[in-house]
Amino acid sequence: MTGPLDILIVGGGIAGCSAAIALANRGHRIRLVEKQAVWKFQSSGIFVYANGLVSLEELGLLDGILAAGFAIPGGRNAYYDHTGKPIVETVYPTAAEGRIPAILGIKRAELHRVMAGRVADLGIPMRLGTTVTALSEVSDKTTATFSDGTTSTHDLVIAADGVNSSMRQMIGVTKKPRYTGFGVWRSVHPRPVDLRVKVMMMGPGKRFGIMPISDDKLYTFGTLAEPKGKHFPHEDWPDLMRAKFAEFKGPATPYLEELSHGSEILFTAVQEVVLPLPWHRGRVVLIGDAAHASTPFMGQGGAMAMQDALVLADAIDRNPGLEEALTAFGQARLPVCQFVQDVSRAVGDAGAREHAGQLDARDAELRLTAQTNVDQFYERLADLTDSSDLHQ
Ligand SMILES: Cc1cc2nc3c(=O)[nH]c(=O)nc-3n(C[C@H](O)[C@H](O)[C@H](O)COP(=O)(O)OP(=O)(O)OC[C@H]3O[C@@H](n4cnc5c(N)ncnc54)[C@H](O)[C@@H]3O)c2cc1C
Repeated sequence: MTGPLDILIVGGGIAGCSAAIALANRGHRIRLVEKQAVWKFQSSGIFVYANGLVSLEELGLLDGILAAGFAIPGGRNAYYDHTGKPIVETVYPTAAEGRIPAILGIKRAELHRVMAGRVADLGIPMRLGTTVTALSEVSDKTTATFSDGTTSTHDLVIAADGVNSSMRQMIGVTKKPRYTGFGVWRSVHPRPVDLRVKVMMMGPGKRFGIMPISDDKLYTFGTLAEPKGKHFPHEDWPDLMRAKFAEFKGPATPYLEELSHGSEILFTAVQEVVLPLPWHRGRVVLIGDAAHASTPFMGQGGAMAMQDALVLADAIDRNPGLEEALTAFGQARLPVCQFVQDVSRAVGDAGAREHAGQLDARDAELRLTAQTNVDQFYERLADLTDSSDLHQ
């Protein structure tokens, strides 16, 4: 498209910050509004695999992220059973001929600090404590009314307001997020210096992982089936997390024992968003979790949000009009995001169906197939990502 666009981004999470940076770097005029009055990211860790680190490099953030997180030497992932018996080790693929690490753990708040810091450095106006309450299309522009009663008019509005997006509803997409049946319990702990590998423990219908996120911290994550709508009082979280994963021993034991009222613990009931195209209506486009939230079993939601931002920026550059650009964006991204959603859902569902009598067979199968599964997933993901690359 010719000339810079006036773009409003709603939501300053991974997708919103990435879009702000990618589009400002191409000369567009960006404004960002974020519902939270003060940046507050629930404390826990996040994985970023090589494909996400490639996007961070393209956004100019890789060095800051590598400094703030912990890249696993050799991309090693060690599987154990829930008693602490080793099963098998796998290795995740690096990128850029080994220059970009295979997997990095980082505190969610640190990832945000680096991203929001760059948004601020680029001089992008960012209004916290603000949401959009109404949208109206006027000829070739969209006017947004904000929660403080002010309005502004834009060529494009990017809805990056996460899994429970209110923008999605505002543009008439009635499909609601689906509760997946899974809960995830996460906690942050001091990291012993010799823990330099991602640990994945396979319990009966449950998983418990341990991942370094900095030189001195790690996080644990436990997944299991949880009934819909279940509320757990905050003060019970340490005891509940310890009890729900009590069968996990070996590497898990010190962290489960360490849980206390002073621990950083987070429970999340996992939802997914499966939307057919188009992901836009008029001049408003959904990106990130607002368009395609996934279960977390492949650790790819953040990477998908960053790639959305970069592909959207390319689509705007390369198409003569906004409708063509937004259509091209959705068509490029749907196959990649759907693949991640489908594999992630299948991994989660297979784990939840397990019962105690199947564990030996599962471990034997894992020894035979774990590395092939990793390789096949990343090869297919790379193929799909390459074919969605609008540079080509
Ligand atoms: C348990 C769990 C574990 C995960 N682990 C990983 C992992 O290891 N690796 C990974 O890559 N991904 C992981 N994910 C997925 C990842 O967190 C998401 O895919 C990613 O955060 C999506 O980014 P987003 O910007 O679209 O949404 P979000 O990060 O949710 O950001 C949305 C932003 O919009 C703001 N907002 C909301 N509503 C409004 C509004 N009306 N107006 C203005 N602002 C608004 C919010 O405050 C927030 O700042 C995990 C997800 C879950 C649930």
